Amino acid sequence: MAKIELSHITKRYASQARPAVDDLSLTVGEGELLVLLGPSGCGKTTTLRMLAGFERPENGKIRIGDEVVANGSAWVPPERRGVGIVFQDYALFPHLTVAQNVAFGILKMPRRERVQRVEAVLEAVNLSEYAGRYPHELSGGQQQRVALARALAPQPRVLLLDEPFSNLDPELRTALRYEVRSIVRRSGITTVLVTHDQSEAFALADRVAVMHQGRLHQLADPETLYRRPASRFVASFVGRAQFIAGRVCDDQVHTELGAFQLQDHLPCGASADALLRPDDLHIRPDQTGNALVVEREFAGATVRYGVRLPSEHVIDVIQPSGHLIPLDSAVRIEVLPRDPVVFPTQEAVAINAG
Ligand code: ADP
Ligand code: MG
Repeated sequence: MAKIELSHITKRYASQARPAVDDLSLTVGEGELLVLLGPSGCGKTTTLRMLAGFERPENGKIRIGDEVVANGSAWVPPERRGVGIVFQDYALFPHLTVAQNVAFGILKMPRRERVQRVEAVLEAVNLSEYAGRYPHELSGGQQQRVALARALAPQPRVLLLDEPFSNLDPELRTALRYEVRSIVRRSGITTVLVTHDQSEAFALADRVAVMHQGRLHQLADPETLYRRPASRFVASFVGRAQFIAGRVCDDQVHTELGAFQLQDHLPCGASADALLRPDDLHIRPDQTGNALVVEREFAGATVRYGVRLPSEHVIDVIQPSGHLIPLDSAVRIEVLPRDPVVFPTQEAVAINAG
């Protein structure tokens, strides 16, 4: 168990104009499960490979526990970092049994101890009965649990998982997700998991670091990311973002759905967008309402309505399906948050920047 610290890490591949990882700083607490989330190509794997010691950062410092493993002068090779790794393709040795695969990283251990250790980790991943099987005799999910057991066998200080569920079919993925979370929790090991899947990140993480084009946009718990995203990118990448245009006056932004309090000062007259998620809105039928239900999609527990505003803008509203509202109903819209997140529009930023 160890804390991880990245400070001002930059990595540029020779063939690339833009750095793959650009001045990245973050800390993972002892025993924390941190998820690195972002679209393909944003630098997640590169970050993980630098933590593991497969890539060398050109700037910055990496610390694992009390040890600086990379900076301008220090360099600790992968095998001495105490890091366990699980990749997307399970990469098990096909000619070795499950037990032999798991034992692979601890061959130096005395035999008796090694056998006990293999038994213990196989039990932790619920694969005790499979010790004598070969990888091809296992399902994808089971193979990935063997890979996890193999990574845990040497009792690493930190565990790194790169898209560990992405080669599995959706049901298996969800099941294994909870299993991995409980294994990681029970072992108490500091873990960094990489994914491009927002729901996976939310389901697993203590905190999520959202990356875009090599940069860290926000590091926060899932609820904060969803409710108080720090950028338009984060707002749109985690969940459905709808921006309602407005104009600033007296520290409020005035929109066709009402006036909202600003958290940060913007000059009077500036245009800005309020972030309203489908579950931030509530509609009820009202003859005098100025909005109209133009779409309805029943999803069991919830319904999604498309609601047309006086501006002709259609916004999504999601609410419980208990009392269905018919299509073409006039409705009144209630905005639940009092101070939604507001982003200045690009033009306003440009004007402010002169
Ligand atoms: P992610 O894991 O988020 O999809 P990567 O870290 O794999 O992102 O890649 C980040 C960027 O670096 C991408 O633009 C990718 O094309 C580039 N890249 C990754 N590995 C290499 C490499 N070995 N050589 C050159 N460019 C690379
Ligand atoms: Mg990757």
